[in-house]
Amino acid sequence: MRTRDNIIEKYTIHFEIHDFGFLLPGLDDILRLKRIYPNFKITCFTIPLPREFYLKENAKHFKIEKYKRWAEIINSYEWMEIGMHGFSHTPMEMGVDYYKTIDMIKATENLWNEVGLKFKKICVAPFWQYSYEALNALKDKGYAVGLNRNNPIPVPKGLETFLFTWSVEEPILSAGYDVIAHAHTTSRGVRNGLAQSYNNIISVLPKEVKFDFLSNLIKKQYEENNKEKGNKEGGD
Ligand SMILES: [Zn+2]
Repeated sequence: MRTRDNIIEKYTIHFEIHDFGFLLPGLDDILRLKRIYPNFKITCFTIPLPREFYLKENAKHFKIEKYKRWAEIINSYEWMEIGMHGFSHTPMEMGVDYYKTIDMIKATENLWNEVGLKFKKICVAPFWQYSYEALNALKDKGYAVGLNRNNPIPVPKGLETFLFTWSVEEPILSAGYDVIAHAHTTSRGVRNGLAQSYNNIISVLPKEVKFDFLSNLIKKQYEENNKEKGNKEGGD
């Protein structure tokens, strides 16, 4: 039985959200959670250039100067970290060959470096659609990759991966003291939109619960793995 005190004492929540981005809705709902939880931290899987802005009538809003000002605000939130969520969030964007994936990663890094947005080398593909080649490209570029808990796939050796353990609409917190909480900025076509799951989140997570960035958990888990391997293999 997970009591309130037990959760506060032993659990750490690694909160991640999909479909975040410049000119996209969702920041208000994140700020609302931040006001509730004093220790709040969140990892935002961000769409660099959403396909909506390829349309002429929307394109005029997508100004690099505005993007820079937005990046400054996001960078100033020390409780927030940014990861990559495709480039334009189109289906099969990361279902392509090795070099196309490398190009996409470079395009994202170039854009974010240009606007000055700080980011971590963690990635979730739109709709979790990966080709094996894309996973190899992400590995070679130093990215850790999020896979779908409900549809695990084979991955290249040496690729760092993570699976979410609690989708925020679920009434019961997952087992294990490190929880990877999974949400979406919008409610369109999903059950774990932040606004629609808001009441469930505050009923499951006590106000004083600990949070940490997802990137820190991945680092910790892989350092431990490597240490264990080193102990086993190092025989000199
Ligand atoms: Zn998405």
